[in-house]
Amino acid sequence: MVTISKKLKDGTATYREANRYAIIVGELLAKSFKMNLSSEVLPNGKLYYNIAKKVVDPMMVNNFLLISEVSQEVQTVLNQSAGLGMRGLKPEINQDRIDGIVQRLALEESFDDIKWILGEPVINFSQSVVDDTIKTNAQFHYDAGLKPKIIRTANANCCDWCDEVAGVYDYKNVMDTGNDVYRRHRYCQCEVNYLPGDGRRQNAHSKTWT
Ligand SMILES: [Zn+2]
Repeated sequence: MVTISKKLKDGTATYREANRYAIIVGELLAKSFKMNLSSEVLPNGKLYYNIAKKVVDPMMVNNFLLISEVSQEVQTVLNQSAGLGMRGLKPEINQDRIDGIVQRLALEESFDDIKWILGEPVINFSQSVVDDTIKTNAQFHYDAGLKPKIIRTANANCCDWCDEVAGVYDYKNVMDTGNDVYRRHRYCQCEVNYLPGDGRRQNAHSKTWT
């Protein structure tokens, strides 16, 4: 986290740092759920809807706020590097996904049978905030006449599907092919990155655009 704030200040932050930040913030929240929620402390060992809504929802929203803030700042840095004098945009919160987790928790008779959903899916949700930020900004830049590119890098040993979908995509083609580039199965920590892409390229060493 120290690294990302430094990189934001230096103007060298990318979505790679935002993705890592999202994983850390997601892991912390999953850990906090694990420490504070157990069938012993819940009435009848069940996470009733009202409690789930009161406890889980605001924490997930808070994660969204933290990660979308950092992702927006990353996008602002990318915009500046590309000579675009505008701030990055924040995505809309995917409240449906949070509601889905809350409802699923309340549906189960025993919290123990469903507590896994407050583990990896929380991290996955956190990463999706970064992906959604990329999507939002790419759409905005595309509408403004730029030619944004989405880059997906597969983590070693993720899965065959992720190896297949890795690559550099013109935003236009991403839309045509059903947004697979942003998809994230459980436990996938592959990276999605973004180039504002108006024909310029970023120098990997100096981080300047030519
Ligand atoms: Zn993956």
